[in-house]
Amino acid sequence: SFLMKIMCGIFAYSGPKQNAPEIVIEGLKKLEYRGYDSWGIAFKTAKDVKIYKEVGKIGEFDIKKSKLSIGEIGNERECNIAMGHSRWATHGEVNIKNTHPHATEKKEIILVHNGIFENYLEVKKTLEKKGHKFTSNTDTEVIAHLIQEHNKTHNLEDSVKLATKEIEGRYAIVVISKESDQIIAARKGSPLIIGVGKEKNEYFVASDIPAFLSHTNKVMYLDDNQMCTIEKGTAEFFDIKTNEKITKRIIEIDWKAESAEKGEFAHFMIKEIMEQKDTLYRAINQDPVIIEKVAKEIKNAYGTYLVGCGTAGKVCMVAEYLFARIAKKHINFSFGSEFSNHEDFITSKSLIICVSQSGETADTLEAIEIAKSKGAKVISIVNV
Ligand code: GLU
Repeated sequence: SFLMKIMCGIFAYSGPKQNAPEIVIEGLKKLEYRGYDSWGIAFKTAKDVKIYKEVGKIGEFDIKKSKLSIGEIGNERECNIAMGHSRWATHGEVNIKNTHPHATEKKEIILVHNGIFENYLEVKKTLEKKGHKFTSNTDTEVIAHLIQEHNKTHNLEDSVKLATKEIEGRYAIVVISKESDQIIAARKGSPLIIGVGKEKNEYFVASDIPAFLSHTNKVMYLDDNQMCTIEKGTAEFFDIKTNEKITKRIIEIDWKAESAEKGEFAHFMIKEIMEQKDTLYRAINQDPVIIEKVAKEIKNAYGTYLVGCGTAGKVCMVAEYLFARIAKKHINFSFGSEFSNHEDFITSKSLIICVSQSGETADTLEAIEIAKSKGAKVISIVNV
């Protein structure tokens, strides 16, 4: 594909607040800008895990006015573990059955997933032979069953770890189960960030920081091939490959919650158009030291490539002409999806400049992987 962009939203909460489903729904609303076609939440009640899904937009959904407010959560509204997902369908049509969260038959495992499980058909067949029954057409449901299969002989944490090792492709997953009070998050290629709440024992998990910025500005970044288990007020991190425990730094973000929201504007697009004046100003006012550094890298490189997809790709195209005409420097442009065609020319002396608005564009990330495998230097320009 020329523009492969999967940016669904994930949000989870574990903490002392009793209205976890409401917090999750508000969090999903803040991730709306990522685009989605359906959404759903799962939340733990005293004895069960409840799942609620809808096709379409989360828009004005008000949990207090919905049947979720009394019927499902219970009058006491005690619920402090919940997670939600806004889906951008890749496998299986847009319908309730395919909407996340996905659960195994007796809700042993409940899961939300962002990304693509490339070898899911193979794994699905093996699991079917072992008696697993599937109710959706998604790749995601297979992950839930795969974890459950491991969970027959391992604890939940190890089961997630073992399952992730079998997933080819990019993913961000969050898992809960009926039996435990854990929230387990894991990622490879798709973003997941842990927010450390202001209250004692309070944690958030989200695809992007603005989703929980109204609650906290303290974050811990989950990196690729890492996993985080949130339980009893602690968050423990592991490396999936080596099984080693990881100590994370808590980073304080100084963004303003409002700047990440629609504010007075009806749509994000109108907001972006109205902000162009400031955006252009910020774009032009770059740190000259950094510009100098990049210029030096280009000068020293033996072949420079500008790589991007969609609009970011167009930016690279324009830059190719500007470099040729103004800087008198030959620079190659490539769409992320086509970069592998240049593979034979990439060496440790090459320079790859990747441009991406989200920093999550799958084809561009793949180009970076190719470049790195050849030992080339990579400069990433994100959020253009
Ligand atoms: N591949 C999954 C699905 O189609 C997840 C898509 C997403 O990231 O929203 O359900």
